Amino acid sequence: MKGSTAIRMQAAATFAALACMAGAAMAEPTPPAAAPAAAASPKSVTSPRLYAADCGSIRVGDMAGFSDLGELKGEARNFIVPCFIVVHPKGVLVWDAGLNDALVAEKNGVDHDVFHLEVKKTLASQLQALGITPTDVTHVAFSHMHFDHTGNAAMFTSATWLMNRTELAWALGDPAPFGVSAENLAPAAKKTVKADLFVGDRDVFGDGSVQILAAPGHTPGSAVLMLKLKKAGTVVLSGDLYHTPENHHHHRVPAFNTSRAETLASFDRVDSIVKRSKARLVIQHSPAHFAKLPAFPAYLD
Ligand SMILES: [Zn+2]
Repeated sequence: MKGSTAIRMQAAATFAALACMAGAAMAEPTPPAAAPAAAASPKSVTSPRLYAADCGSIRVGDMAGFSDLGELKGEARNFIVPCFIVVHPKGVLVWDAGLNDALVAEKNGVDHDVFHLEVKKTLASQLQALGITPTDVTHVAFSHMHFDHTGNAAMFTSATWLMNRTELAWALGDPAPFGVSAENLAPAAKKTVKADLFVGDRDVFGDGSVQILAAPGHTPGSAVLMLKLKKAGTVVLSGDLYHTPENHHHHRVPAFNTSRAETLASFDRVDSIVKRSKARLVIQHSPAHFAKLPAFPAYLD
């Protein structure tokens, strides 16, 4: 298809540009340490806490690619890019690593084709506000391996990278598939980090409170994260199963998803889990959903 080839080519250029910028900004000085406002560590919690950090924003100037039926052509939307930090008695999980912190140096953000990317706060500074150093992070996992979910992955060199086997094999393809930044995934490709590859679902800490659930279709190994919290109940973090509440409502399938059939099956699976467990579904890129979460460093528990 001509249209999808054009999208792929644009995307490849975007990600190449981002990779260059990330490399160039490596030398930027780290901001001075602030005193932890709300220290959190596995030792200080008796049940999981969920923090939602701001890892940037994306303005999509033309949403055409976000429905394969073309209804969104010419429309613009604002996406938030969150990073989630789960502090559990057995460790600290970062779920999705956002846009690269290096983008904070680009005061007006970066434009490329239909995307305008901005980072106003670094993930590093937000972890610091919790008294968490990158080496305190025991696990990193990704809803999928698009660049806006892996930006700061390389910060976590001592964590175990929990990765869907199919997703990793796809993401490390040559040339890099649509939306994937090979640079972000270099530690996994070069095997300089501890990788724990899984198939299907994964219970992160072994007690059922934090589970990665397979929801393929957006990419071959896409997933959502289901948390069982003491007070807040069940929370499901959508990954990019849905990009917006309206796409959830209409069950729209983005044109750039890797499988329409898998996407529909994943809609079914996750919607029924949410219904059965009366869960709160957090659509990760939705600014409205993000705004309804406790404002960082407040948390759900
Ligand atoms: Zn995304």
